[in-house]
Amino acid sequence: MAAHTLTKAGANVALIEAGPLWYATENSSMLQWAYQSPRRGRATPESEFGEFDASFGGFEIEGEPYTRAPGTKFDWWRSRMLGGRTNHWGRISLRFGPYDFRRKSLDGLGDDWPITYDDLKPYYDRVDRLIGLFGSMENLPNEPNGIFHPPPKPRCYELLVKQASDRLNVTCIPSRLSIITRPLNGRPACHYCGQCYRGCRTNSNFSSPAVLLKPALQTGKLTIIPNAMAREIVTDASGRATGVAYIDKTTGQDQMVRARIVVLAASALESARLLFNSRSSRFPQGLANSSGTVGKYITDTTGTDMAGFIPKLVDGIPHNEDGVGGMHLYMPWWLDNKKLDFPRGYHIEVWGGRGMPSYGFMGGIQGFPGAGGGYGKDLKQKYRHYYGSVVGFSGRGEQIPNDDCYCEIDPDTVDQWGIPVLRFHWKWTDHEIKQVKHMHDTFEALIHEMGGSLMWKKPGPESDYGIAPGGRIIHELGAARMGSDARTSVVNPNCQAWDVKNLFVADGGPFVSQADKNPTWTIMALSMRTSDYITDQMKKGAL
Ligand SMILES: Cc1cc2nc3c(=O)[nH]c(=O)nc-3n(C[C@H](O)[C@H](O)[C@H](O)COP(=O)(O)OP(=O)(O)OC[C@H]3O[C@@H](n4cnc5c(N)ncnc54)[C@H](O)[C@@H]3O)c2cc1C
Ligand code: SF4
Repeated sequence: MAAHTLTKAGANVALIEAGPLWYATENSSMLQWAYQSPRRGRATPESEFGEFDASFGGFEIEGEPYTRAPGTKFDWWRSRMLGGRTNHWGRISLRFGPYDFRRKSLDGLGDDWPITYDDLKPYYDRVDRLIGLFGSMENLPNEPNGIFHPPPKPRCYELLVKQASDRLNVTCIPSRLSIITRPLNGRPACHYCGQCYRGCRTNSNFSSPAVLLKPALQTGKLTIIPNAMAREIVTDASGRATGVAYIDKTTGQDQMVRARIVVLAASALESARLLFNSRSSRFPQGLANSSGTVGKYITDTTGTDMAGFIPKLVDGIPHNEDGVGGMHLYMPWWLDNKKLDFPRGYHIEVWGGRGMPSYGFMGGIQGFPGAGGGYGKDLKQKYRHYYGSVVGFSGRGEQIPNDDCYCEIDPDTVDQWGIPVLRFHWKWTDHEIKQVKHMHDTFEALIHEMGGSLMWKKPGPESDYGIAPGGRIIHELGAARMGSDARTSVVNPNCQAWDVKNLFVADGGPFVSQADKNPTWTIMALSMRTSDYITDQMKKGAL
């Protein structure tokens, strides 16, 4: 987003990218059948979510370790390709709401942002118009309306979910995904092939290479340097950033790009790593870290899942219910925390249906009620019988930053290029654990209301109610939080480093709180706002 906004404003931009070039419009396997591959879509070490998935990277990358303090369970997803995780993300594109920017004022926990929803609203509007998303106008207090394309209709199983939610008074509305259902800015509308995770050849969903970087390249002002692993931000004696040193991964050689302004957007935690590794005699704690808060206040979304077997859905009439590559409806947070034993909310994502079978399809069929064993024709008949009869729910909630969740440089470990790596510390608190317990109670109520039964045992206190380890929901934020006080924050309200005037952070690093929303729409709105600020300051000669 920064490269797009800045080149459009007339700046020359060099984009340093650790992975290879990749454009969905050219490289996606959107139209491939699983049987066309000998692996039938099975995950590979390079592509952890499946062979066809538009993703290079994963929780483990050879030659690029990270470490965990004793007792810490934390997994760090890293993308290594142009456009990062926006190639294969879920495209759930939610704005933070007015309450999300001032949580401390509302419940006394965490911190308020130094900006409000109204400061960011014009940028959310611009992101909506530029990229496009579908959704519905609901006028909910903390789930702001956007500039939406019409949403697709619910699928059969989603209609059942909607009926059950209505009976239980759980708010259930059309989902909000950055997939266009009407032509926009030269891109055609979605044709409902359901393969968004593979990247979209027709460019009907959002991925940053095809939607943002291609137009930026057309300005003639963008240079992309692929396979370039940034090592540190270089500064001069006056403390200004002068460029970025990187390793050319194809030759192993050290290189440098000189720049008048440096914008960090390597993902929240990698940006913190770069700041730590840009230590110098002038900045002994790492760059932009005079407050000592780089790497602190990191959060991830809380998460846990449950699936239900729904007898009403067995022996379904074969029909095409592909739709978009993602859910057509979801449940935003609908309750009042004052009446609950935990702070902050969660939303529920819905899955199920009759997606295209590939490797691992309906694994564990013997576990379906009444399925038993089976071979040959009998087994095939069972697959047809049960196909589409599972509905799943994923709770995704807000973690409150705490002092036990942070990252730092591990003094003993380096990666394959000799660059020091991050060490993570992580502890959930009772707030999050009680929240996921509530998620499971809701999932169970919904599944029973649909006439179904749980597919596996409901987790209890022995497993902290099934809360996913930190990092597993892949929404990590913080580590360079913004604030109005240079003593307690890394960047100011414009995402400009307090200590280094010409250094900006344009990823999830500046987030002050997590919200119960997926973060990427807010990352992009903030990045656009920061880029406008840079342009304005350049014009005024203030940078
Ligand atoms: C499977 C999945 C589903 C998701 N679903 C959603 C969703 O539905 N909604 C939502 O809001 N969010 C979702 N997310 C999260 C979302 O993808 C991230 O919030 C978003 O991509 C973060 O953007 P970013 O640019 O900060 O980081 P990234 O997308 O990770 O991009 C970082 C880029 O920097 C490059 N890089 C990293 N380190 C270096 C270095 N040292 N030198 C040079 N380049 C470097 C990487 O190669 C990459 O291109 C999902 C993520 C995953 C993995
Ligand atoms: S479902 Fe729509 S947006 Fe997604 S890959 Fe298919 S055509 Fe593209």
